[in-house]
Amino acid sequence: MARRRQLYEGKAKILFEGPEPGTLVQYFKDDATAGNGAKKGIITGKGVLNNRISEYLMMRLHEIGVPTHFVRRLNMREQLIREVEIIPLEVVVRNVAAGSLSTRLGIPEGTRLPRSIIEYYYKNDALNDPMVSEEHITCFGWANTADLDDIVALTLRINDFLSGLLLGVGITLVDFKLEFGRLWENDEMRIILADEISPDNCRLWDSKTNEKMDKDRFRKDLGKVEEAYQEVARRLGILPEAGARDLKGPEMVQ
Ligand code: 5GP
Repeated sequence: MARRRQLYEGKAKILFEGPEPGTLVQYFKDDATAGNGAKKGIITGKGVLNNRISEYLMMRLHEIGVPTHFVRRLNMREQLIREVEIIPLEVVVRNVAAGSLSTRLGIPEGTRLPRSIIEYYYKNDALNDPMVSEEHITCFGWANTADLDDIVALTLRINDFLSGLLLGVGITLVDFKLEFGRLWENDEMRIILADEISPDNCRLWDSKTNEKMDKDRFRKDLGKVEEAYQEVARRLGILPEAGARDLKGPEMVQ
């Protein structure tokens, strides 16, 4: 089969040219990295699960009017997305202290925050994705204040909606990272949600036991990584029907 032209390969995904102008194909790999590539590994079936989980969450967000780049899932590991101009920011939302917030400020992991916090990081591997403020973002032209207003409004909405959706299946949304892009239509620009939403870029804890169900299991060598991703998919009701046998892909779906 003729392969599409590869445009970009990241740590967990590959982007191919899409079938029509303005579209791309996003391929989900099993590769896992932590610490900006310092630790590398494979989480078997992760790509298949993240493709499904991200599809599911982006579709639910679309239903409440959040614009996203997701068009449709193509097969086990690929989804069709709209091509956007990526804003070079990682937008992190926190509801409970964990990870770099706990390390940096000494707030014990698991402390419920009095209100959700939004942080910005400049997407730059060579610089280790440094944290930046609105001042840096507007000064260096990565986004203007109107863009940031849209980003904050969308981010808070996404956080509220996903926190509720996940709590309904016994999962606490501790924190997560979003990326946004600019979509141009007839000289009009809109900011839409891009990238993925999956256990790779969210901290998800079992709401009863606080057991980690996300990439921290890989980052911290906690074991049962594949099982944790599968459990998130199972609770969302989207585990591939044949279970683990189905996790190798790619396989066309109708
Ligand atoms: P922290 O700043 O505590 O390391 O991460 C906060 C949240 O953002 C976590 O849910 C983490 O998974 C996500 N996150 C932050 N940076 C990255 C990144 O470069 N890649 C991915 N996949 N997730 C990230």
